[in-house]
Amino acid sequence: MTLAGFGWDPRVAEYVMRPDHPLKPYRYRLVYETLQQIGAFARTNARIVKGRMASDDELALVHSREYIQRVRRFSDAASALPPDAWGDRITWSDTPPWPGMHQDMALVAGTSLACMEEVVSKRARVAFNGSGGLHHAKSDRASGFCVYNDPAIVVAALVRDGKRVAYVDIDAHHGDGVQAAFYDTDRALTISLHEFAPWFFPGTGRPSERGEGSGAGYSVNVALAPETDDTAYAIAFDAVVPPLVRAFAPDVLVTQGGFDTYFNCPITQLALSTHGYERCYRAFAGFDLPWVALGGGGYDVDAVRRGWSIAYLVMLGVEIPAELHDRAAPRAEGEDRELLDGAAHRAAAAALAASFLR
Ligand SMILES: [Zn+2]
Repeated sequence: MTLAGFGWDPRVAEYVMRPDHPLKPYRYRLVYETLQQIGAFARTNARIVKGRMASDDELALVHSREYIQRVRRFSDAASALPPDAWGDRITWSDTPPWPGMHQDMALVAGTSLACMEEVVSKRARVAFNGSGGLHHAKSDRASGFCVYNDPAIVVAALVRDGKRVAYVDIDAHHGDGVQAAFYDTDRALTISLHEFAPWFFPGTGRPSERGEGSGAGYSVNVALAPETDDTAYAIAFDAVVPPLVRAFAPDVLVTQGGFDTYFNCPITQLALSTHGYERCYRAFAGFDLPWVALGGGGYDVDAVRRGWSIAYLVMLGVEIPAELHDRAAPRAEGEDRELLDGAAHRAAAAALAASFLR
């Protein structure tokens, strides 16, 4: 029986970036409540992992000291500071500073680290922090709704301790911040499957971004076509993720599980259902590796509630209640079917050809 931790502190689900902001942290409280109602936490293999604050030294595994100080200053007095000291106009509108931002985001990052510690110490085989997975933040700036890059901090802490880490990012957006943090090392394999289109944030994630120096071939990008559905996604996922993870033979698996790949997500154009999403978690669980599972994007709040509940139930090894699943999944037919499947095959082939396995 797999011991599965669930990272939790009510405060990770309470912060508000801005009332009209698409990222709704309360979605993770809905996951917690759904799992509680189902009785998931009463299972003998379920563990609540208490959240904690990340220290400045831990944040500095990825972020510059100057940036951490800037986050603290804006956290304390955002309205008194010149907006351009936070970033450009896009940064300000996508990732606005808010009062208490440093404390809120250090708690999210620390909760991801607490999940990592649970797994490394073997108190749990897998631990999930749905409030984490903030994969766009860079060393010295906020980006794409992300202030501190908790997945990169977790991977960096593992690499510092001599572990080889496979990071798999299934968010609809490219995991650019994590890729950048490990672009020149073969100690961390980063694989990102994401929508790729000229208009789509963040604009990176081409297969030709393959890492450099000893990291060449260890950054892997699967650039998916808009409208990719469960069937096409499975083609790309199966061709790339299991062979690369097995060949890399990591000590620890870290996953970023944004569910903005959902067909009804208001800000993306992928077309997955809860069934396609569950399939990814079955594959992750099947690696039978120590596993730190993080959240990520997801802007259809009820889809995230159901998807992340399903993800944790897969970790627990529990049957999925039918009411958590979509009743019908979108599926392209005819010529669209051929186009999507062909695009998925090509995306996978390009990713593999640029990888260390080529
Ligand atoms: Zn996303």
